[in-house]
Amino acid sequence: MSIASEIQKLQAELPEGVRLVAVSKFHPAEAVVEAYAAGQRLFGESRVQELLQKIPLCPSDIQWHFIGHLQTNKVRQLMGKTALIESVDSERLLELIDSESARAGVVTRVLMQVHVAREETKFGFWPDEFLEYFRARKFETLKATHICGVMGMASNTDDMDRVRADFRAIADVFRAIRDDSALALRGFDTLSMGMSGDWPVAVEEGASLVRVGTRIFGPRQY
Ligand SMILES: *Cc1c(COP(=O)(O)O)cnc(C)c1O
Repeated sequence: MSIASEIQKLQAELPEGVRLVAVSKFHPAEAVVEAYAAGQRLFGESRVQELLQKIPLCPSDIQWHFIGHLQTNKVRQLMGKTALIESVDSERLLELIDSESARAGVVTRVLMQVHVAREETKFGFWPDEFLEYFRARKFETLKATHICGVMGMASNTDDMDRVRADFRAIADVFRAIRDDSALALRGFDTLSMGMSGDWPVAVEEGASLVRVGTRIFGPRQY
């Protein structure tokens, strides 16, 4: 299957209202251009250097999502380059993104990464930590950052019951904050869950954004 036909097939399979992020990390700019020609506009990258190298080689109306662990010493380079940073995994990183955004004169849109997969050490806020961040109204101090929702990953396992339970746990904390009218959050509406192997389950559990790499571009060349 070609990149274009995978994109078209996925776009046809996704229900209305669910957007596709084509994860192009470790694939060359030519692969991005091929997917773009098939109508794809949202792309995901997980390394700052790779993203910065690709941007000038790709069409300028692409919306880039940063989906990897973001080191604090790379934040400044990313300002103004992304449509969404999906992987904000600590308060410290969030505060730094905010101060660097203000300094650069931009508003950065972000998702908070929530950690539920138990057996692995993945980055992210624990559900309690995430809920506390909002209930303590800490977001009110942000000047140049817009929190648009939540990103999460399920456990890396073939046990689809477990994967579903993980997605449900991520969706639960997302909804708890989205539906808390006392918080009066605006534009907190994005739930990013699901990858090549598990996106249909994620969509059933309420994902509004899926991040698919291997199925579109094939195996990554590390
Ligand atoms: C690499 C990556 C993906 C895509 O994974 P595939 O299994 O190739 O679809 C999705 N989300 C994140 C956060 C990733 O790092």
